[in-house]
Amino acid sequence: MAETNETRQGTNLDPWFNHYASRSAGLSASEVRALFAVASRPEVVSLAGGMPYVRALPESLVNGALEKVMSENGPMAMQYGSGQGVPALREQILEIMALEGISASVDDVVVTTGSQQALDLVTKLFIDPGDVILAEAPSYVGAIGVFRSYQADVVHVLMDENGLIPEKLREAIADVKASGRTIKFLYTIPNFHNPAGVTLSAERRPEILEICQSNGILILEDNPYGLLSFEEDVPPAIRSLNEDGVIYLGSFSKTLAPGFRVGWALAPHAIREKLVLAAEAAILCPSSFSQMVISEYLSQADWKGQIETFRGVYKERRDAMLEALEEHLPDLSWNVPNGGFYIWCSLPENLDSKAMLPRAVTELVAYTPGTAFFADGGGRQNIRLSFCYPTPENIKIGIRRLATVIRGELDL
Ligand code: PMP
Repeated sequence: MAETNETRQGTNLDPWFNHYASRSAGLSASEVRALFAVASRPEVVSLAGGMPYVRALPESLVNGALEKVMSENGPMAMQYGSGQGVPALREQILEIMALEGISASVDDVVVTTGSQQALDLVTKLFIDPGDVILAEAPSYVGAIGVFRSYQADVVHVLMDENGLIPEKLREAIADVKASGRTIKFLYTIPNFHNPAGVTLSAERRPEILEICQSNGILILEDNPYGLLSFEEDVPPAIRSLNEDGVIYLGSFSKTLAPGFRVGWALAPHAIREKLVLAAEAAILCPSSFSQMVISEYLSQADWKGQIETFRGVYKERRDAMLEALEEHLPDLSWNVPNGGFYIWCSLPENLDSKAMLPRAVTELVAYTPGTAFFADGGGRQNIRLSFCYPTPENIKIGIRRLATVIRGELDL
């Protein structure tokens, strides 16, 4: 084959350049990734990542479970297990689901390697190149990455302070249908949205469901933050309103610790069978060790009390961030999240969140530019600020630094 500029270029960088499957083109490193490596230096206050504050989880709670598993069931914990997950844990997941208003049976639960893997498996099962996935504007960066890797077209649907707007969903569906493309599912994060911080109101939930049902669109409900509310509990999950049209994703990453890499999917029967087959093809089975330690933790520790502790920690940090924003950046607009990890800010007009990031890192503060959360180039005027990881003192320092950066930009 004659060498083109492109292949020569590829050859210089990677001798296998011409061998990759076309879908691998969707696997591109985010443009801000290199900056985040710099931003992880200790002197930088990072308001960028979504890392849970695992130091609020007493080591003794996990150690007790770990020791018991290894002394009583070590060989089983070290062994392969069922592709669908450990039955005892699936049983306990039902208790957690009841807190979200969901009643399900143990057969409905598929344990996955974090909910991230469930996102990947569901997308693998449903998406052919060019299929459309509807997602909120903005949406979770990690989901957009998965959708791209399967060559889906992400069509964003506007939200307001009550979450996804039903009328905008109807319009988006009509537009996509008119263009002759196929919508495979709606991906939605109904509670304490990442990155927008908002929660889908109770009134809108049945309406969103009805719109999807009447258009034959499956719902992928991603709910890792639902139990981390600061005020009243969230409305019942969309899955609690319907079993057949919703795949629900849950995770232990935010209510326990992401290091276990354990999440789960609840799926309608036929989809569930496929999900288990896809999971077995990908990883054989989720980690027996992690699942058994979590199962033991749930049966011997006060896990609800621990979730209360996390709520208290994150509420204090949210309050610190809101206070600092009011003090140092009163000209910005932002939402007040009632739970979760994130505040979504709009910058003054003419500021570009992506262009500003290197200057912010120079001032020793990092945030995530809004562009990371759109598949279509939107979000230039937005930033996501995470209050989950830094201490309240550091949050205040970080926002003060951010104010210096923004004032500097406006003076340019
Ligand atoms: N969905 C959302 C909305 C998230 O914010 C995250 C993690 N930040 C995930 C899924 C993946 O979580 P995990 O794989 O750790 O369960």
